Amino acid sequence: MGSREFDVVCFSHLRWDFVWQRPQQLLSRCARDRRVLYVEEAVFDGGPVRIEARDACSGVRVAVPWLPHGLSPEEVVSVQQQLVEELLEREQIDRYVLWYSTPLAVPSTRGLTPAAVVYDCMDELSGFADAPADLAALEEELLRRADLVFTGGHSLYEAKRERRPDVHLFPSSVETAHFAQARERQPDVAEQAPLPHPRIGWFGVIDERLDVDLLAGLADARPDWQLVLVGPVVKIDPATLPQRPNVHYLGQRSYADLPRYLAGWDVAMLPFARNRATRFISPTKTPEYLAAGRPVVSTSIRDVVSPYGEQGLVRIADEPEEFARACEEAMAEDAEERQRRVDSVLTEMSWDYTWADMCELIEGAVRAPSPPRPRVPAREGFDWLVVGAGFAGSVLAERLATQANQRVLVCDVRSHVGGNAYDHYDEAGILVHRYGPHIFHTNSGDVFEYLSQFTQWRPYEHRVLASVDGMLVPLPINLDTINTLYNLDLCADEAEAWLAARGEPCGRIQTSEDVVISKVGRDLYLKFFRNYTRKQWGLDPSELDASVTSRVPTRTSRDARYFTDTYQAMPLHGYTRMFERMLAHPNVKVLLNTDYREVESFLSYERLAYTGPIDEFFDFQYGKLPYRSLEFRFETHDRSVFQPAPVVNYPNEHLYTRVTEFKYLTGQEHPKTTLVYEYPRAEGDPYYPVPRPENGELYGRYKELADALEDVVFAGRLATYRYYNMDQVVAQALATYRRLEETRGRTDRALGRPGVHGGAGRQRVHRPD
Ligand code: FAD
Ligand code: UDP
Repeated sequence: MGSREFDVVCFSHLRWDFVWQRPQQLLSRCARDRRVLYVEEAVFDGGPVRIEARDACSGVRVAVPWLPHGLSPEEVVSVQQQLVEELLEREQIDRYVLWYSTPLAVPSTRGLTPAAVVYDCMDELSGFADAPADLAALEEELLRRADLVFTGGHSLYEAKRERRPDVHLFPSSVETAHFAQARERQPDVAEQAPLPHPRIGWFGVIDERLDVDLLAGLADARPDWQLVLVGPVVKIDPATLPQRPNVHYLGQRSYADLPRYLAGWDVAMLPFARNRATRFISPTKTPEYLAAGRPVVSTSIRDVVSPYGEQGLVRIADEPEEFARACEEAMAEDAEERQRRVDSVLTEMSWDYTWADMCELIEGAVRAPSPPRPRVPAREGFDWLVVGAGFAGSVLAERLATQANQRVLVCDVRSHVGGNAYDHYDEAGILVHRYGPHIFHTNSGDVFEYLSQFTQWRPYEHRVLASVDGMLVPLPINLDTINTLYNLDLCADEAEAWLAARGEPCGRIQTSEDVVISKVGRDLYLKFFRNYTRKQWGLDPSELDASVTSRVPTRTSRDARYFTDTYQAMPLHGYTRMFERMLAHPNVKVLLNTDYREVESFLSYERLAYTGPIDEFFDFQYGKLPYRSLEFRFETHDRSVFQPAPVVNYPNEHLYTRVTEFKYLTGQEHPKTTLVYEYPRAEGDPYYPVPRPENGELYGRYKELADALEDVVFAGRLATYRYYNMDQVVAQALATYRRLEETRGRTDRALGRPGVHGGAGRQRVHRPD
């Protein structure tokens, strides 16, 4: 590990000083040849908002965010995010691996742009007392987002492997030499010195994982034994701990001092309760106690029983009397013989090996993505204001920032990036698309390759069933649809003839009705298209352009895929993550929850890229362009699968058009499932331009106004009033950027640049007001 290709930024819920084992061991090794920043959970105090970093002795820098009381959960996230960004800037860390010890850090770090993401899963945190409700959803997000997932024990590994098959098992190791100091004869630590033997000791965090009844029972069963507990009391009320003359709580002591305490114990104990919080634990203390030369007695924790119990290195007992007898046997056994067996196991364990193996994997993950981003040039104002953080706006921003070194402000009235393709984890932890199902498909290698810079993919071929005549049949209409509906047994050629006999030639195909009736005839048209279209658009198919229903083909093969494009896949970690990566460039700033009209007058920028509704841009001066809207109703069910296909269409029943079950799209494994029902609406967010000749004409008039504006470009589904799929919007935005590049020199001259518009009170120069 010579060169420093990356730094490491770790987010943890534990104070660095509380962390005795795994993160300290790993990160301090990591800090030998790279910078390591360890960001603790925020502390709330009355003082100013700030983030402070200090050097810890092991070469790690430890940072603590300080927040004021009284912030809303959203504010806590956004303030922390800002603080972390500031800190990275201050510490000049720009190429780094994000190392999560807890999924709770996910919300405040979503905006970061790491070279790779590592999730080191040490515990099943959701089983802990006071585990936040959103922990499961955050972990799901992290499991998807992480390039590498490490687990600290066998039970955890088995559990996480279900959700992420490529998870790695890295059981916690031991610094044998450090703990072996306890084997040397040495003077007792002062506070233990007055305690008579035998002493049964413990070190570690004292919380709900400890079996307090066992402790009390053990203390009562052997009143002449001394139980010594070293460690901070966390989360639980200290008053709930058993108080006895022979139970001694010494409080937290440093890692460096532990061997001296251990040296004075006759038995080291692991009195863990068997509850939700301990189901997956793999206590690092086990090998540490053993390295210290102590006999060990533990309750029946799975990862202690196997391997240590099975190897005869640790005695297992759950009840006080049984535990006491196990301690007696342990004290009576041949210590030298035990130590020989222990040492043969310990020689194979080393944090150095663990770290070296992890590091190799991390280097591989870091090498995969793109090279370091350039730093922000010190310039005033923005070159571009991009309105809308959907596909059109994000692609333009990304191109302008990375290819033309332009400073871009992306502004969206919504609280998130991604436009209509935005996805997020719902309350149950299921990845859903807030604005209806988005399935990526394209024939364009260029578009696919372009987006592949920002996401990995999960192959996915979409399938739809339609509920017709009480049956669920494939859509697009195919051979099986016809045979099922009409109780036939046609082959492909026969079906061709069958359809030809039903199709009604209608001269020039102009409307959505013509398209379908000419191909499949009136009966299938009525079964599948007429009512669905009336519901969806509030118009009869005869009132809509042919292009609308042409989107759904007819086949005589048995191909049941909804799309036949060359590339069909879903972003592996979701659309939002892809957008975050696209926009993660120092040249790009993102302003959410803001209508650009609220801020444009006091922003300094040169040109505008507009991706909202075009009629709104021109204050509806020629009247409103119709956009069709939808209301989405989400439902979560307590079962793993709800319907037999990703989407079921309801042409003739219900007020909704279709029901989507997201897990089919995303491939997520989850015991629950979330669906969305789409209810068409005339009012609401503009989702669909309505393709009809008169709307095209009205758009044409707005387009003339748009074309006359040299310093504004219009792109996207709403701004160019086209019923475009995502890939078409990406292709359009890429083409728009290429045109801008080609004409840059010319435009610059025409605009008399350089020269930045703006400053407070600036008049809007881009509109012909
Ligand atoms: P948008 O995603 O709409 O982004 C425009 C952004 O501009 C919005 O975020 C908006 O908030 C913002 N904005 C508007 N006005 C302002 C303002 N004044 N100030 C600040 N911000 C503003 N495509 C597919 O390829 N496959 C699918 O399966 C698919 N399914 C779909 C399902 C539904 C229900 C819908 C509605 C669309 C679907 N699409 C699908 C189409 C896809 O959503 C669009 O092609 C794509 O999202 C359009 O991107 P865009 O950037 O043009 O617009
Ligand atoms: N359509 C229909 N019945 C269906 C599916 C689609 O009539 O079962 C028509 C309807 O007019 C719809 C259009 O075909 O608006 C395009 O369907 P698509 O699935 O492409 O719609 P989108 O996913 O864009 O909403």
